[in-house]
Amino acid sequence: MKLQEMTWEDFQSAETLVGLIPTGSTEQHGPHGPFATDLIIAEEMAANAAEETGALVLPSISVGISREHQDFEGSLYISPDTFRQQLREMILSASSSGIERFVVVNGHGGNISAIYEVCKSLYIEYTTIALEWTWFNAISARNMGHAGELETSLLMFLRPDLVKEPREPGAGTWGHKFHGTRVDYLTSSFTKNGIVGDPTKATKEKGEELFNRSTKKLKQLIRDLYSPDQDFLSEKTR
Ligand SMILES: [Zn+2]
Repeated sequence: MKLQEMTWEDFQSAETLVGLIPTGSTEQHGPHGPFATDLIIAEEMAANAAEETGALVLPSISVGISREHQDFEGSLYISPDTFRQQLREMILSASSSGIERFVVVNGHGGNISAIYEVCKSLYIEYTTIALEWTWFNAISARNMGHAGELETSLLMFLRPDLVKEPREPGAGTWGHKFHGTRVDYLTSSFTKNGIVGDPTKATKEKGEELFNRSTKKLKQLIRDLYSPDQDFLSEKTR
């Protein structure tokens, strides 16, 4: 179910406990991937999980914390403050309508720390339960890169109409380290084509496997949020 497709009377009778908020970005994904790559992945995973668990999909945040891509034209970005405020106020307003628990289903690495901060402050201030969930961390994906093998495979599976045939690999790593600290702030300083990783290794089958593995985790999380005896914020589950 998607909130935006319901009427307020539908909402009243739905008794929805868990709300999902997809968050992504509108940023370059190499010469082969659409700007909405991260958003598409987050929205498709949220929709799939909602269908099987009865969770409600709330509106997405489609422009994220992506200033690192500013040198690639067409990339949009909002400040971390704006992002945090939008997410926080969306959750608080949904919470006042009776949705009790939230999972922020995220597809963009640059959003992670801001989402976590919002979730933490909502719990401390209001005991609202909201959780940051990012697909590639949920499955401990290796060599995540950017517009590389993993994201391109997911696009081939989810939206083959929007992804072009990858022609070349990108940078081997996300920036470089200098005496143990990461020093690159703009992607243009370490990748010419906007890619990190090797999208030429991507396949639709790999995308399907990544999608199924990620959504399985997400559905388990949502089901445990529905469970009345869940007590994951206490010592017992550590
Ligand atoms: Zn991405």
